[in-house]
Amino acid sequence: FAALLEEVVRGAKSVFGTDNEVVVMSSSGTGGLESAIVNLVSPGDRVLAAICGNFGERFAEIATAYGADVIRHEVEWGQPVDPDDLRRLLASHPEVELVLLTHNETSTGLTNDLEALVAVVREAGRMAVVDGVSSVSSMPVEVDRIGADVVVSGSQKGWMAPPGVAFAAVGQAAWERAEKSKAPRFYFDWAQHRKFAAKGATPWTPAVSVLFGVREGIRMLLEEGLDNAYARHRRCADAVAAGLQGMGFTLFAAEGYRSATVTAAVPHADLDVKAYRKLLREKFGVVIAGGQGKLEGRLVRVGHLGYVT
Ligand SMILES: *Cc1c(COP(=O)(O)O)cnc(C)c1O
Repeated sequence: FAALLEEVVRGAKSVFGTDNEVVVMSSSGTGGLESAIVNLVSPGDRVLAAICGNFGERFAEIATAYGADVIRHEVEWGQPVDPDDLRRLLASHPEVELVLLTHNETSTGLTNDLEALVAVVREAGRMAVVDGVSSVSSMPVEVDRIGADVVVSGSQKGWMAPPGVAFAAVGQAAWERAEKSKAPRFYFDWAQHRKFAAKGATPWTPAVSVLFGVREGIRMLLEEGLDNAYARHRRCADAVAAGLQGMGFTLFAAEGYRSATVTAAVPHADLDVKAYRKLLREKFGVVIAGGQGKLEGRLVRVGHLGYVT
């Protein structure tokens, strides 16, 4: 197991583009997000959440559940978070220390300009905590180059493994903050994970079977070459977008911000999304998603991440 964990951590570091420690936890992606909150936030802390879809909403909800005082910066779904708006907000809220960002908003098929957003957060001297669950491994993130403090991902997305493993790439400042934070935590305590990782172990029973899958996914990615994998995702996204538009769908996410991993599109008013998905599944063996949260029934979402050509 120590050898398995070592290869997964080493591979994950190259995929995240970081020399920071990557914490490996047995949970779905949401657990990875929760780990960031419980290790960094103390009850009463002022946190700014940039929300442009259902997953941004979830990140804010987790922070709220642990007693953070959350300022919600809500952007119209399908639109990106604007770096200038974020800069102004941070200037008017000097008490905010932590900013929650979603890189790829899976519910709307939109990818934010993470590099620009993290730059704004860092220039303002705050900490950038990023949901990269559906982007890391499928599109460039380069954690160290852009300077993101924490980035979270999950095994069942572009990593091509079954669900059950979450990653958090945790920078130095975040480790220091975690030492001082007072949110209650046990299972997701990064310090425990760090202590056991040094011995080639995890503090609790790990999802061993899933980690074998993660190791193979990482091997496949590195064999293909990350840049080739990113280019393949972009090609798939462009092909799906062109096909959907050709069939009369309207792409949902703002142009220039369309995701390489999931395409969201609005059908003609007379198309019943539920019946359409059922037809695709039963007649053609193709599974696509519908809308999430307040977009339920209004969208189709086609996933093209991971082992997809
Ligand atoms: C999938 C996903 C998550 C995590 O969802 P889980 O079901 O808990 O794995 C979080 N954020 C985004 C953007 C996602 O796409």
